[in-house]
Amino acid sequence: MTTTLWWSEAELSIGRVGLASSERGLARLFLPVELPERDARLRRTFGPHELRPDDGRNDQARGQLEAYLAGQRGDFDLSLDPRGTPFQLAVWRAVAEVGRGRTATYGEIARRVGQPRAVRAVGAANGDNPLAIVVPCHRIVGSTGQLTGYGGGLPLKEWLLRLEGAMPRDDEGWAGWAARRAAAQPSLLIGPRSTRVFCRPGCRYTQRLSRVPATFGSADEAAREGYRACRVCHPV
Ligand SMILES: [Zn+2]
Repeated sequence: MTTTLWWSEAELSIGRVGLASSERGLARLFLPVELPERDARLRRTFGPHELRPDDGRNDQARGQLEAYLAGQRGDFDLSLDPRGTPFQLAVWRAVAEVGRGRTATYGEIARRVGQPRAVRAVGAANGDNPLAIVVPCHRIVGSTGQLTGYGGGLPLKEWLLRLEGAMPRDDEGWAGWAARRAAAQPSLLIGPRSTRVFCRPGCRYTQRLSRVPATFGSADEAAREGYRACRVCHPV
């Protein structure tokens, strides 16, 4: 069966992106560096398909992307039609639940889909995400919070994480970041992934971060993720 896709491109602040919607919703989003490989990737995802000029059904996605990239919108409200294996779909659902300003590791996503040993497969599925930005695969980081590969390129991943407040802005260090986040969310707790100890934002251990830490809204949440309370700042 031939899938019909409605195609448009949009010039956004991050560059030119491509959007393909099926009858059910947004089915594929191409970041600027992916756009040249469009035809091969569409064939791989959809098999035989017919590409028609967009009839307006991509408008909503384009508008929400523009607002999101301008910092005017926190998340997306769109009909989506991601195509993948049951495992990929489960991974993408778990990734979609990682909220703005937060991050998760591949191992955490593997546990959340009930396959704690499938860390590499989770990484592959995350890399095959057909709806970058909308399904926020950029929020998935390495086991100690290092920024690992991104289909749209690492500079874009870092830019998106700064935009969302998961990393310091250009003009502030991690201490400034922790203070800003705590001002917005007084219950915030910060867990450096290398030590898996969680702290109050003002603790000296949150002042010398170099990688993206976990953030929690409560000590219970931190404990559920396997983090221990700091003995210096006593967050519980
Ligand atoms: Zn501490």
